[in-house]
Amino acid sequence: MAAKAPDITIIGGGVVGLSVALGLLQAGRSVRVLDGADGDFRASQGNFGLVWLQGKGADFAPYAHWTRNAVAAWPAFAALIEDLSGLNLALDQSGGFEFFTDSAEFDDFSTALARQQGHLGTRFRHEILTGDDLRRTHPEIGPGVVGASFCPLDGHVNPLRLLGALRRAVTALGGHITPDAQVTQIAPTTGGGFDVTLQDGKRLGAERLVLCAGLGTSRLAAQLGFVTRVRPQRGELLITEKLADRLSFLSSTIRQVDEGGVQIGGTKADAGLDDRESREVMASLARHAVTVLPALADVRVVRAWGALRVMSPDGYPVYARSPLHPGASLVTCHSGVTLAPLHATALVDWLDGASHAPDLEAFDENRFALSDAA
Ligand SMILES: Cc1cc2nc3c(=O)[nH]c(=O)nc-3n(C[C@H](O)[C@H](O)[C@H](O)COP(=O)(O)OP(=O)(O)OC[C@H]3O[C@@H](n4cnc5c(N)ncnc54)[C@H](O)[C@@H]3O)c2cc1C
Repeated sequence: MAAKAPDITIIGGGVVGLSVALGLLQAGRSVRVLDGADGDFRASQGNFGLVWLQGKGADFAPYAHWTRNAVAAWPAFAALIEDLSGLNLALDQSGGFEFFTDSAEFDDFSTALARQQGHLGTRFRHEILTGDDLRRTHPEIGPGVVGASFCPLDGHVNPLRLLGALRRAVTALGGHITPDAQVTQIAPTTGGGFDVTLQDGKRLGAERLVLCAGLGTSRLAAQLGFVTRVRPQRGELLITEKLADRLSFLSSTIRQVDEGGVQIGGTKADAGLDDRESREVMASLARHAVTVLPALADVRVVRAWGALRVMSPDGYPVYARSPLHPGASLVTCHSGVTLAPLHATALVDWLDGASHAPDLEAFDENRFALSDAA
């Protein structure tokens, strides 16, 4: 007799799919995660590890609140997966800076933070500092920094350990993760459910599906009638040799990983499906880092890489249920590290149709259908 299909099949085993899997398992569902091939683009393996609020949702209040809730939920989420996995995520939420070397960009960002403050009220705190203010408390910051903002709610984790911990936690709760199970075709079956075909020709039955396939989302989304399409955005990163001393700050472009190296990043480029790093961008990252922290001039870079962000048309998350095929949902976002705790809790309530689930209408894909943006 064929084995009974699990309650829910998740397509994509990155941070997003695994966070959703964890939450569904905790809600008592049986879960199978079908993950793609080793050569797939995987944002979850190449990201910067920020758990970041500042600047998020300045022009979209639902996203400002959603991110604020995620940041607040991080300590309990980290404790849970550390407990289940035995791995230390190195979560540190003691605040972070955005540094500026251009006055006009500094002014624009300060105005954006005021708009974010308008949405969040007392739920948000930040400071705007001139370069001289900043150097009074952080004399190591270079004279080329004209200003900075600081948010005491910002933080970071070790992103690769997060991915490994999520895999272990999902497995510990009885979830099945199948690697190298690239889904090529999804066909709704008469009477409900789905027939899922893998690259190797194998076919599986699925009662409910959650599509979390990162940059693999668009092709499968179209098969289920979703209008959401995602696009890649390349970010490049450097990491230095390990430093014995700890940096005195965290910023959105320079952070010290718990093992001691300094990670430098923050670039954005529309380069299609090309995640290769480039010499010019590496040089500009190094220049930025030395401008902010001149002492880095004497530190060796040991590794550089590029990785592709998964961007929806407007950059905000998409949480959608298929109107045509009940049982199929789509989840995609940028900032999947920051949002992970909500993907494992509130989003799961919403996927399950729980009466206490949050209203996530603002993140539905009908915003693209209406604006023709997708
Ligand atoms: C340079 C960079 C810096 C970033 N910095 C941060 C940060 O500081 N903080 C933050 O919160 N976020 C950050 N992000 C974003 C974050 O990494 C992503 O939001 C998150 O990793 C997305 O996870 P995902 O699971 O959607 O996608 P992925 O990690 O890409 O995973 C998708 C998975 O789906 C699988 N898949 C694809 N197609 C199929 C298929 N057909 N069948 C089965 N499986 C399939 C793939 O194999 C893959 O494992 C950054 C991203 C980048 C690139």
